[in-house]
Amino acid sequence: MGNEAIARGVVEAGASVVTGYPGTPSSEVIETLQKLGDGLDIYVEWAVNERVAFEIAYGAAIGGARAMATMKAPGANVAADPMISAAYGGVDGGLVVLIADDPGPHTTQTEQDNRWFAELAKLPMITPSTPQEAKDFTVKGFELSEILGLPVLLRTTTRVNHAVGDVVTGPTREPVRFKRFVRQPERFVRAGMAWNLERHRWLNRTLAQTEDAAEKLGLNMVEGGENAELCIVTEGAAYNYVVEALERLGALERVRIVKLGLLYPAPRKLLSSQLSQCRRVLVVEELDPYVEHVVKRVAFDEGLRIEVLGKDEGLLPLEGELDTAKVLAALAKLLDAEPPAVESASPRREAPPRPPPLCPGCPHRSSYLAIILGIRRAGYRVDEVPIFGDIGCYALSVYPPLNAIWTEHSMGASISMAMGLKLSGYPKPVVATIGDSTFFHAGIQPLIEAVHKRVDMLVVILDNDVVAMTGHQSTPAWTRTETGRPARPVNLVDIVKAIGVDNLAVVDPYDVDGMARVVAEFLRKPGVNVIIAKHPCALLEARLKGVEKVYTVVPEKCTSCMACVKVTGCPALYVTEDGKVGIVEEDCTGCGLCARFCPYGAIVEKPAGRR
Ligand code: SF4
Ligand code: SF4
Repeated sequence: MGNEAIARGVVEAGASVVTGYPGTPSSEVIETLQKLGDGLDIYVEWAVNERVAFEIAYGAAIGGARAMATMKAPGANVAADPMISAAYGGVDGGLVVLIADDPGPHTTQTEQDNRWFAELAKLPMITPSTPQEAKDFTVKGFELSEILGLPVLLRTTTRVNHAVGDVVTGPTREPVRFKRFVRQPERFVRAGMAWNLERHRWLNRTLAQTEDAAEKLGLNMVEGGENAELCIVTEGAAYNYVVEALERLGALERVRIVKLGLLYPAPRKLLSSQLSQCRRVLVVEELDPYVEHVVKRVAFDEGLRIEVLGKDEGLLPLEGELDTAKVLAALAKLLDAEPPAVESASPRREAPPRPPPLCPGCPHRSSYLAIILGIRRAGYRVDEVPIFGDIGCYALSVYPPLNAIWTEHSMGASISMAMGLKLSGYPKPVVATIGDSTFFHAGIQPLIEAVHKRVDMLVVILDNDVVAMTGHQSTPAWTRTETGRPARPVNLVDIVKAIGVDNLAVVDPYDVDGMARVVAEFLRKPGVNVIIAKHPCALLEARLKGVEKVYTVVPEKCTSCMACVKVTGCPALYVTEDGKVGIVEEDCTGCGLCARFCPYGAIVEKPAGRR
């Protein structure tokens, strides 16, 4: 897998500090390194957010150590402030920042194209196309970083992070640790405006050397003959689609491919020498026409009379992932080639589409049902009390049957957005819901803001004791990290109390009625009222403790009213051939929620035996 290859590259490059915040498609880099264990003698731990991760890695790199920070696409926004300043300070040890973009998008709130971020931050950006390059470019990224004295952004996309392929490994290297750190305020103190101006000059001079350094490291590649009919400029995963499409068209000999491994600064010398030999150029890339505009700029500056085609002309889409079919269609048109017949796939029966459900026994399901019951109990209609959501599994509560959250915007935004609506004059109560890891990541400051400004609102912290959505990573509340490092647990209740909220209750959401009572009570009270709905992630709890009880349906009592299914939507419930409800006992975690909502007492507990 591409991410495992990056992890291998980290070991071959001798990084000694690796940290990041989990997020698909980047998470497996740190997870792979953590699984390799103590033998590596690398600090490899999750950080509380991407900003902190970058700053830890940066702190290591200014002392001469090699370090990496990892994040998914929006993580670059969280880390942007220190990353942009880091371009002025520079590094002494190699620092590589993995930013994993998600065209598609498969698991991300936007299709943010972080190639623009390299331009904004003025940090070199490189990009691999294959798992082999993912490993090699990681090693070269550290080398480039040390040649330039700048952090290097390793930009990947989901198809490279998760691509599977053979990788030829190289020798590993002893981790490169602290060497020296001397006081240089002109580099590392951004309060000096004259220093900043000088460092900006230094940065521009350094960036001007990037192309030559990248050339020596072999980051860019040119394939194809001199008399090509068409030049193709491409990068990243798009390169693979280009090659496959050309093979299927039998047109590999008719084109020249310029594959950019260096995205920023643009390799202008390479592009101008290659473009001067072309009449027509197709730029194949995912998301924005970033490279296309670079190519057009270079052609304009060099006075080249060439035709540059791509997204601006509508040959390729501006949104979503590319694939071989899309690239093949564009190439067939430009090369006047007959697209090969598509092999007819064997007929398949497609399952009807269903919204992704919360897991059986998920405490978030109980929490949202309790919030909904509490809103009604407090005398409001559900459609007049907005429930703000945040980033995490609980965003799945947006789907039927819960239809709970009204928003899911960005990490930590639930509290501030609810506050904004209330401040604007919204006349009814507002509820913000946020997971424990998201609260640690970006929710603390919004809660401080709400308390300080005395805004009336209910905040529900959904504390399942883990970063669940991205694969059960640790939170700051853990007593030991994934690598076995003893950790001081940070207490959520203490933080919330210290912020000075007006009312605080810790409840178990499996007690739906108990929680609903507190919700109703807190909705009626002024001030910032916080409920910590504390119950471990059902999957994690089942894995750690086993399942001691499950629920089953007594068919004679079941009236087929479907209340259990309609209210909870638990995926362990199914409809039997005689129209009654059954429970997949292997999936049931024994939360008892369906039994709570069965009006006929048809769902009863039974021992599960340990599983
Ligand atoms: S008790 Fe009911 S709601 Fe809970 S996991 Fe089992 S089937 Fe699902
Ligand atoms: S709520 Fe009870 S009676 Fe109604 S379908 Fe479910 S198990 Fe049967």
